Amino acid sequence: MTTNIPSAKQRANPYVEVEKILAEFNTPQLQCETDTGIDTIPLSSEVSFNSWQPDIPEEYWKLEVNELVQRVRASRERLGDQVVILGHHYQREDIVQFADERGDSFALAQYASDRSDSPYIVFCGVHFMAEAADILAAPHQRVILPNMEAGCSMADMASPPDVYSAWRELETFFGSTADIIPVTYMNSAASLKAFCGENGGAVCTSSNAVQVLEWAFEQGKRVFFFPDQHLGRNTGSEMGIPLDEMVLWNWRKPAGNLGDLKEQALRDSRIILWQGHCSVHQRFSLPQMEQTRARFPEVEIIVHPECRYEVVQAADATGSTAFIAEYVAKANPGSVIAIGTEINLVSRLAKENPDKTIFCLDPVVCPCSTMYRVHPAYLAWVMESLERGEVINRIEVPNDTKTHAKIALERMLALK
Ligand code: SF4
Repeated sequence: MTTNIPSAKQRANPYVEVEKILAEFNTPQLQCETDTGIDTIPLSSEVSFNSWQPDIPEEYWKLEVNELVQRVRASRERLGDQVVILGHHYQREDIVQFADERGDSFALAQYASDRSDSPYIVFCGVHFMAEAADILAAPHQRVILPNMEAGCSMADMASPPDVYSAWRELETFFGSTADIIPVTYMNSAASLKAFCGENGGAVCTSSNAVQVLEWAFEQGKRVFFFPDQHLGRNTGSEMGIPLDEMVLWNWRKPAGNLGDLKEQALRDSRIILWQGHCSVHQRFSLPQMEQTRARFPEVEIIVHPECRYEVVQAADATGSTAFIAEYVAKANPGSVIAIGTEINLVSRLAKENPDKTIFCLDPVVCPCSTMYRVHPAYLAWVMESLERGEVINRIEVPNDTKTHAKIALERMLALK
């Protein structure tokens, strides 16, 4: 089969060209609030602006991206080392250009704590990331989230009361939780990290989940893993744990129903997975992979471990955002790589690697809708406010939560 992939010379923007090709065999997809594209438009033109942080002053609403960019740049210069700007890989280009550091949530939180000379940390990412930065920051540092409505739908699927209630049910069922080790993915509320710290557990990231689970099985018989079922299942499978020993706790069932599990299945389980998922990574599917391979026989498909089990099993490689970026950078010129992760990162990798053909496995452009809420207007607002001595949108984790959450993070760090 011929693929007709345009050469690097023919392609002004390889991502856009490949997107056109992929559109030919587009399959019906779920729609999301940002399906119209990833280019920045004025805040007031965003269809979902009404549900974003509304108290941003009106002067920022209609500004075009060029003006916003100039204002942020000027403010950045005036503030100098007073501020560190962090940009998660999934942030839009108009934000990432200002980042002193870009990376995944944990790497960024660590970077911020190393920059203790700067009293203000502006975290361009989502809520749990700013919390993690505040947990690791020096006492004099203040962490700011540009848009307070930038949360994470996966983290929200594990509300602390639901997790505590499940834990109590497990305690009643097994007679004790001494042999159950709670492990939370970085993408969770600070209070759940603290819960893990208090109950002999740890935090993990998508890069070190295997090491953390190996450690957990040295501490107890069973792992209670939240909030991402897919990362938990993919990690357990990588460690050789059979699928039927990884059970799914349905938190939507009323308390007293053992998360909709059969008693014997729970007794035989080694990992109890919380029924959470990432709405972005759950979009990637086997039909998309089959169609991509049919169209581009030489393609390599790399996906993030937040994708479904069957997608990870069928992929050529799986790993964190750092792994994906390194994989692409090391690929030979001319490589064709389809990536199963958030579109802003894929698009950036395509631009940074013009000698390779890089595209998103999902032909519909759907950014993480909560990451997307960090519009440059919010960044301009918090930065210009800082210049006037006003700290807008501070994220502050209570001290006792910080103490216990740090214990869970330190257990993870000790494994490296
Ligand atoms: S990409 Fe998924 S896990 Fe990451 S912030 Fe968005 S919803 Fe949450």
